[in-house]
Amino acid sequence: MSYKIMAINAGSSSLKFQLLAMPQGSTLCQGLIERIGMPDARITLKTPAEKWQETLPIADHREAVTLLLEKLSGYRIIRSPEEIDGVGHRVAHGGEIFKDSVRVTDETLAEIERLAELAPLHNPVNALGISVFRQLLPDVPAVAVFDTAFHQTLEEPAYIYPLPWRYYSELGIRRYGFHGTSHKYVSATLAEKLGVPLSALRVVCCHLGNGSSICAIKGGRSVNTSMGFTPQSGVMMGTRSGDIDPSILPWVALREGKSPQQLNHLLNNESGLLGVSGVSPDYRDVEQAAEGGNRQAQLALTLFAERIRATIGSYIMQMGGLDALVFTGGIGENSARARAAICQNLHFLGLIVDEEKNRQNAAFIQAENAMVKVAVINTNEELMIARDVMRVALTETVTQRVPA
Ligand code: ADP
Repeated sequence: MSYKIMAINAGSSSLKFQLLAMPQGSTLCQGLIERIGMPDARITLKTPAEKWQETLPIADHREAVTLLLEKLSGYRIIRSPEEIDGVGHRVAHGGEIFKDSVRVTDETLAEIERLAELAPLHNPVNALGISVFRQLLPDVPAVAVFDTAFHQTLEEPAYIYPLPWRYYSELGIRRYGFHGTSHKYVSATLAEKLGVPLSALRVVCCHLGNGSSICAIKGGRSVNTSMGFTPQSGVMMGTRSGDIDPSILPWVALREGKSPQQLNHLLNNESGLLGVSGVSPDYRDVEQAAEGGNRQAQLALTLFAERIRATIGSYIMQMGGLDALVFTGGIGENSARARAAICQNLHFLGLIVDEEKNRQNAAFIQAENAMVKVAVINTNEELMIARDVMRVALTETVTQRVPA
């Protein structure tokens, strides 16, 4: 029996989707609807054999999903929308309520909307995506998969900030962590590839993309992670600063008369690789500028690696050792330079990278005599979402819905 599962990532003006055949995990179709709300919106669908693209007005998310379902049938990717067995929705924030993916009900949807206070840019539009699919496919089970859920295993010393207690108890200010779906997928894949149970491993996972986060995973549980109350904290990113001295903010606010919104923009959009290099937020561009002799670009790459090294080091202390280091995300999967810079001079830990394997983006890049495995694994959040739909909602529902 094969199930057709849709994985959805709804943004404010976009909708990313992937239709997977499960449990095989193969992609039947994937694509993107962009510029929702504009007269020149665009829908792109790709199957392993074909690609379609169309520019047309799309008024809102409801129209976008209606169009998507029409196109899937129209291009004969599915016979009818009823063939979809389950829909998994990526949701940014699950607060302290959602410790795992959940079947969507009216109550869970209301909770997701309430959590908009913690993720004002993302949760409302994630909830909107869920509502539209529920309206259009009322009999198809929906599952919410939270970016924060995997990190709900953190213990107090890892998630409490040393602020007055009421900021945690009354306002919910704590480390939540993000990228959980990716860290969970990549660590599970690592264990599979090693042929060792994840419960026996101490892993540090580096998800390095436009947004970057590091996660310490001990015995399969997230025990620390670099993103915190927001995705702004931790290591340096494309346009985000990551951790800085917190008092810089009130100092700059007073000195330059910046509002909280302007400070947010400074930290989220003007900093990181872009801010230091002055060239671009894109790692490849900064690499190119550095190779051309641009000193700020060179410094930006060094800072990027050093801040990741410091985080990995602290997680090794917390876990009492390291069995495997994993690289994923656009930079982690592709940049031999970034991986080499992060792993240099760690022989004393038994962490040694083989230059040639690193250059080739091999699945394992540690040297023969290394104690610590170093893996390069392509992340696949959509597959993780589809697996969660199967695990949380599907097996029993499909047997109820589809007579044997
Ligand atoms: P997102 O966080 O938006 O999903 P990605 O995971 O796609 O982002 O990562 C984007 C980053 O990966 C960019 O900084 C880009 O420069 C970098 N990247 C992609 N391919 C390469 C490559 N071949 N070499 C170095 N960096 C790369």
